[in-house]
Amino acid sequence: MSGMTTVEAIPDIVEHLREGFRSGITRDLQSRRVQLKQMRRMIEESEDVLLDALVADMGKPRIEAYMTELAFTLTEIDDAVKNLGKWAAPTKVKLPLNFKPGSARLRPEPLGTVCIIAPWNYPVQLLLAPLIPALAAGNTAVVKPSEVTPTVADTLADLVPRYLDGRVVSVVTGGVDETTALLDERFDHIFYTGNGAVGRIVMAAAAKQLTPVTLELGGKSPTIVADDANLKVAARRVAWGKFVNAGQTCIAPDYVLVDERVEDEFVTELTSAIHDFYGDEPRDSPDYTRIVNTGHHDRLMAMLDAGGYDRTVIGGEGDRLERYLAPTILSGVKPDAAVMNEEIFGPILPIVPVSDIDEAIRFVNDRDKPLALYAFSEDDRRLERIVEHTSAGGVTLNHVVLHFGVAGLPFGGVGESGIGSYHAKAGFDRFSHAKPVLNKPTKPDPSLLYPPYTSFKERILRRFL
Ligand code: NAD
Repeated sequence: MSGMTTVEAIPDIVEHLREGFRSGITRDLQSRRVQLKQMRRMIEESEDVLLDALVADMGKPRIEAYMTELAFTLTEIDDAVKNLGKWAAPTKVKLPLNFKPGSARLRPEPLGTVCIIAPWNYPVQLLLAPLIPALAAGNTAVVKPSEVTPTVADTLADLVPRYLDGRVVSVVTGGVDETTALLDERFDHIFYTGNGAVGRIVMAAAAKQLTPVTLELGGKSPTIVADDANLKVAARRVAWGKFVNAGQTCIAPDYVLVDERVEDEFVTELTSAIHDFYGDEPRDSPDYTRIVNTGHHDRLMAMLDAGGYDRTVIGGEGDRLERYLAPTILSGVKPDAAVMNEEIFGPILPIVPVSDIDEAIRFVNDRDKPLALYAFSEDDRRLERIVEHTSAGGVTLNHVVLHFGVAGLPFGGVGESGIGSYHAKAGFDRFSHAKPVLNKPTKPDPSLLYPPYTSFKERILRRFL
């Protein structure tokens, strides 16, 4: 295994990638496809090693880890390989009459050398998914896995140089010191996924070099359940989206705003969904993930201990040594409870009763703009009203989380939940500059534009410009 990158080595690593970019090796589309296909080979040939690392760091169920980390990444690679020619092709722009003759186009060009900083919750996917469009767009890239999942970080640091061209991609491992040193370097784009506090540090560092940023942040993603919702289906879907990866998902339903007339029935359905998914003792279920470390385990237990809710409907048991926290549902949660103050990022689901949809909308709008919003109702007009009157990074109606996986839907936040979006073509565009190019023939060359400005010229210019 590679071990940690030293702070001293970072300037040379970045310079090497800049040199790689300047050499022109990423200009050719075929060479970009080769890198993308190599990434596919890396994932296929190292599937077991990657899944072992995810089990070691987070106790992820293998099938869930395959689905959420590897399968999604492979789909993004295939999409990029298939569509690269189309995405990278110049787009013709119609010329207004007064600019004719000539031709105009938007020509995507790579930005240069980019920096991708990944978090720990989906540590493989959230490192590779931005790298795909970065490479597809012709950049060279330094990628920084999270130190919070060290086995995955070491595994990626070991695998990436064996499959990808070292002049095009480098892995930098380490924590705050290494990331700080990295952010001292000049990049052409910084793509950061993680919490908003560090997002601000990244943006401040980027500002010094006038580097554009993408910030993929988090927040409290609400789920609204109307009184006419299909409660059984809503409960199963919410329970799945919440407890997959033990709630450590940026777009997990953070809390539920349920119409008080159906609260009891919805909570009963949620409880039976948890039983169906994880049995009577979720601790023994092979399908239930652990909390990433004791620090986060302590944070979650403290949220529960702080109260502010009527009762724990199910769950609440934690085991610090095992980093286990049962799927937990809290009912009658007050808006000022500790669980409502910050993103939960764990398997605790607060149920907040509201009197109707309008109160739910007000509740959402009184808080930071979330990364995702979910709503359940059998009435499309009500769903539309919720979508129209709230703001969120993305929305799934009558389900949760799934908008993330639709290639045609750019993924990203708004307001506190982030800046910029990616996935498929949106990712290619994020890592490209759409350069406007106007081409004029040298003939004819009318003297209309040039001084001396006569009254005759003025009359014509006023007419046509
Ligand atoms: P984390 O602690 O792994 O941090 C993310 C990255 O920031 C790491 O690579 C880390 O080394 C670096 N970092 C940490 N402190 C730093 C500092 N002081 N200076 C510079 N770099 C530093 O992950 P996290 O932030 O705990 O991740 C969880 C958060 O990320 C949640 O808020 C979640 O909602 C959000 N998230 C968002 C998305 C998305 O796509 N929008 C996806 C996953 C997670």
